[in-house]
Amino acid sequence: SGTGGANAGPRIVAVSNQKGGVGKTTTAINLGTALAAVGERVLILDLDSQGNASTGLGIDIEQRFKTTFDVLTGNAAILETVLKTAVPNLFVVPANSDLVGIDAALATDQNKAFKLRDAITAMIGHQRARDADTHFTYVLIDCPPSLNLLTLNAMSAAHAVLVPVQCEFFALEGISQLKDSIEQIRATLNPRLEIQGVVLTMHDGRTSLSREVADNVRAFFGNKVYDTVIPRNTRIAEAPSHGKPILLYDYDCAGSQAYIRLATEIMERERRYKAA
Ligand code: ADP
Ligand code: MG
Repeated sequence: SGTGGANAGPRIVAVSNQKGGVGKTTTAINLGTALAAVGERVLILDLDSQGNASTGLGIDIEQRFKTTFDVLTGNAAILETVLKTAVPNLFVVPANSDLVGIDAALATDQNKAFKLRDAITAMIGHQRARDADTHFTYVLIDCPPSLNLLTLNAMSAAHAVLVPVQCEFFALEGISQLKDSIEQIRATLNPRLEIQGVVLTMHDGRTSLSREVADNVRAFFGNKVYDTVIPRNTRIAEAPSHGKPILLYDYDCAGSQAYIRLATEIMERERRYKAA
């Protein structure tokens, strides 16, 4: 497994960028699928009130009995809310529009930024006590497009932040802000928080704009930027309406192959990092 020994606990990664439409949800779903395909046990936590990750994984609204809202408000343990997906080894805790009310629901809670961290810690404790073979090795948190209480919960719980950056003109806008926020969270809520990596999405190799943006992002983030670039690919955009990750919808397309390469690169980098 990519996370070391059986008792190491899952690698917890928040997929975050306060800009909307940059490929956060697409990356959570498809990176999760690719990791599961090579034998990791992956849990996706949908932390966006839009519930796009849940929908994209084929979970209908009526199936979302218990959601991340229930987890954050202490009404359900994570393991009571986990649903299977069509991908073996890939699981999801779904979300719905209840999350819109999270600020009000946690208004007087002294511990409001740590609800997810504590729920994940409890889950790991339960899994350890029960059955070593059912541990998750990765938890991917699909964050909303803002630095709100939900994102704070994700960053307090995570080991690292994975940042998808869309190859468009305004890509760098807000990215330095995100970097500052990560520094701030490290200084306050979560000293262990790292940048897992930066993945360029919706890249169009035919345009000089895409190439320029990619160069700028590499200049800003250095070797944190993955060599793997996710191309703009219409099959990726079609897949969610079929409730399927791209690897199930069209395994051979460029988008699927890119997410497989990304998963491989992430696991390879973690291995090297741990060996160093
Ligand atoms: P976010 O979660 O950051 O808001 P999404 O992952 O939902 O972003 O992506 C925004 C839109 O772009 C969605 O309609 C998605 O299907 C589409 N999309 C994402 N990645 C790609 C890609 N590589 N090629 C084509 N369309 C993409
Ligand atoms: Mg999203």
